[in-house]
Amino acid sequence: MAYEVLARKWRPKQFEDVVGQDHVTRTLRNAIESSRIAHAYLFVGPRGIGKTTLARIFAKALNCAKGPTSTPCDACDLCREVAAGNSFDVLEIDGASNNGVDQVRDLRDAVQFAPVRGKYKIFIIDEVHMLSTAAFNALLKTLEEPPPHVKFIFATTEGDKILPTIISRCQRFDLRRISTAMIVERLRHICTVEKITIDNDALLAVARGAEGSMRDALSALDQLVSFKGDTLTEEDVLAVFGLVSRKSLEALAGHLLKGEMGEMLKLVEAFDSAGKNLRRLTVELLAHFRNLLIYESIGPEAAAVALDATPEQLRALQAQAALADPPRLLRVAEQLVAAEEGLRHTLSVRTRLEIALLRCARAATVVTVEEIVRRLNALRQAEPASAAPAAVAAPRTARSVMDDPIVKRAMELFDGKVVEVEE
Ligand SMILES: [Zn+2]
Repeated sequence: MAYEVLARKWRPKQFEDVVGQDHVTRTLRNAIESSRIAHAYLFVGPRGIGKTTLARIFAKALNCAKGPTSTPCDACDLCREVAAGNSFDVLEIDGASNNGVDQVRDLRDAVQFAPVRGKYKIFIIDEVHMLSTAAFNALLKTLEEPPPHVKFIFATTEGDKILPTIISRCQRFDLRRISTAMIVERLRHICTVEKITIDNDALLAVARGAEGSMRDALSALDQLVSFKGDTLTEEDVLAVFGLVSRKSLEALAGHLLKGEMGEMLKLVEAFDSAGKNLRRLTVELLAHFRNLLIYESIGPEAAAVALDATPEQLRALQAQAALADPPRLLRVAEQLVAAEEGLRHTLSVRTRLEIALLRCARAATVVTVEEIVRRLNALRQAEPASAAPAAVAAPRTARSVMDDPIVKRAMELFDGKVVEVEE
């Protein structure tokens, strides 16, 4: 039997197999079970997360010989034809290549004919935002009064580009990017069945590289297997994607937080000479600081639920949370956002990144005015009641501000060092 690529072989066949879109599959199943099926559906979401797959499952569910049913049998001719893409009653149209008025006119004609074998004639229009305005208008006429045997399922990566008059005639569903943790779990299952040996860090690296797209994750896995065989390590995956290992990324963040600029620059040099994608590194570093900020702001238990992070990542966040408080993390994050923006328009990526990281390290370690005021206030409150008025009354004409007892205590607090203050 010919080799079937994993993305195709593991394409979900039932609603319950669709990963990470429970809010959509639940509503669609309910609609079928309660016979409240709309004329037109619109699936909006990034590429590779299952819009077309969901459209096909929905089409099967409607036209299955035992249907409409929320669990199509996958055995009858109607189900099999939809799965194979050669059903007379389920027509898949690519909006990108069929965007003329003529095609839509053809479609309007096709709408008039009753289904051949199924209960419905179903039009799946992918990348529907690519249709021209004239084509949209022609389509709108059909949408206004579709014959009862016709259903439309539209899919698009760009919901904003669709005319409001079309959207208002559809039930709209926004599909989500699939979380890294969910992709890891799905990949783990697939690898077990496919007898691919792969460890946790390597699975995480595949999921990171796929950025929320299950299709990309499975294509990457295919590529890795044909390149390395069925035993895969994190190094193999990182090499294919140009990604930095999770541990290296966390080490870089640690040096940054401690202001260890030399160590930081050494790491960047190593990444650069290993051919790592430095733009991608910046994006991932930013994501790490965002996670750290959330971790510190809402606490470990809530963060474990809210963050798209594996247990290993959570442990690293816990260790680094002690190194900086939220205002500093926020400043680091702001620097990284600016850096990421700048890196898109530069050829000297490494230099830009190094400068950005030095700025970040400064932002992470320099004392803020806010912090000094807070510490001084804490000191004032800690002063014995008798001393406080004295401090306030201390003559402003004193020989030096350094004689103010509070300032003296502050100096002790900062260990006698001159502190740099961020404006
Ligand atoms: Zn069936």
